[in-house]
Amino acid sequence: MSVKKKWRNMAAFRELSVEQRIKTLESEGALSGDCAQLLLEQLAQSGETNIPASVANSMIENQIGRFSLPVGVVRGLKVNGVTRDVLMATEEPSVIAAACNGAKIAAKSLENGVTAHSAHYVTRAQIVFEDADSSVAQKLDSIMRDESKRTAISEVARSAHPSIYQRGGGLERAQAAALTGFAKLTLDINTCDAMGANIANTIGEAVKTQLEGWVGRKALVAILANSSRVATVAEARIPVEALVPGEKDGAAGGAEGTRLARRIAALSSLAAVDAERAATHNKGILNGIVAAAAASGNDTRALQAAAHEWAAKSGRYMPLSTWTLQNNGQILYGRIEIPLQIGTVGGAIASLPMSKVALQLAKVNNANDFRNVLAAVGLVQNLAALCALAGPGIQAGHMRLQAANIAIASGARGDEIQKVAHALLNENSSDLNTSSARIILEDLRKRKNT
Ligand code: NDP
Repeated sequence: MSVKKKWRNMAAFRELSVEQRIKTLESEGALSGDCAQLLLEQLAQSGETNIPASVANSMIENQIGRFSLPVGVVRGLKVNGVTRDVLMATEEPSVIAAACNGAKIAAKSLENGVTAHSAHYVTRAQIVFEDADSSVAQKLDSIMRDESKRTAISEVARSAHPSIYQRGGGLERAQAAALTGFAKLTLDINTCDAMGANIANTIGEAVKTQLEGWVGRKALVAILANSSRVATVAEARIPVEALVPGEKDGAAGGAEGTRLARRIAALSSLAAVDAERAATHNKGILNGIVAAAAASGNDTRALQAAAHEWAAKSGRYMPLSTWTLQNNGQILYGRIEIPLQIGTVGGAIASLPMSKVALQLAKVNNANDFRNVLAAVGLVQNLAALCALAGPGIQAGHMRLQAANIAIASGARGDEIQKVAHALLNENSSDLNTSSARIILEDLRKRKNT
């Protein structure tokens, strides 16, 4: 019997040991031999991170240590017809479990998973001048009307970063705008598969020097904008009975699913009129996206800044996703729209060995495909949270997963962690706290010593 079949028969993926999980992914072809080896070596060195000391010291200033988080995998997320495994780095116990639930539900959508599409991605840089009397705004406007100057700007950009042009990217659009007290030139730059912050800053600074010569004044700033006018859209149309845990058959499943779907749609409407709820709604979306972006070595702060700016672009902070009922309430339609400032190359991606594992598991070969996967992650993460909120509430599931953390906080180590967590879960929910855990731990240790 193949390893894959053997383990499939033996237990669900989450019930396997860490070593068995890695070997299962390898035997399925989801992980290459060298990535599996990397994870196995890390497992053998328990307590060590997999960033070599010399790499860590070269990555940042004043380095004195290495920080590690557990990484886990969301299995079976179908995006655009391809089944992906999504690696997530997170300290929050419920994130991966919830994403797995969401992915399972979304797999039953009419499209057989999530469909996602990324608009042509550009990184934006801005060159800004102080401009109390609007004279710079007028000069920038006339510069942009002058074809020879526009060509000169393109040439400056090309010479600043020739390799991105060789890859088919580069400056695509320059636009002048007047702001109160300032004038700016916005540069939209195709940075191909890179997130593009450094590329945009390099081009932005070069164009700034050229502009300063024409304007006759020093610019205030030339810098990337963590703001985007292009987004990734992911969608799923889910038959309401698929929302019911345990998939009750027939009328029972249908009625329960209809009730849940209606409440999910109501929660979505609430987020559209209440910024407090929208912030938490979006935090739930970012739980998954940020964890997956972090595991792949991307800049999660850039991604979050752009996502929140997008959420507020109408002048009011809005939810990044919406859920509505279709087909007489029989279909729950989910849609997320989010700008994703990420890359599959560049930045720290090559320095962090785990990035290779993340990109390989997700089966992505370019940045837009990864954006599609991340948007789908956000949609299913959101779906799982809304299912819990519309149903039993989130606290029961959260606290069940939090039990191991409480056990660790109470001093449990090694196999004590699971024993204490298990015992805690048999207590009343009001006893899910560190004092109860300490009592259980003391009792466990006493019994061990007698
Ligand atoms: P890099 O500066 O690493 O640039 C990416 C490089 O990857 C390119 O210059 C290119 O070099 C190479 N490359 C290889 N293959 C490709 C491909 N298919 N498409 C595009 N480039 C390719 O990274 P970024 O410009 O993406 O900058 C990201 C980093 O910037 C992140 O670490 C981020 O934290 C940081 N940053 C973020 C800021 C912000 O968000 N506000 C501000 C400043 C920095 P070549 O063509 O020569 O091979």
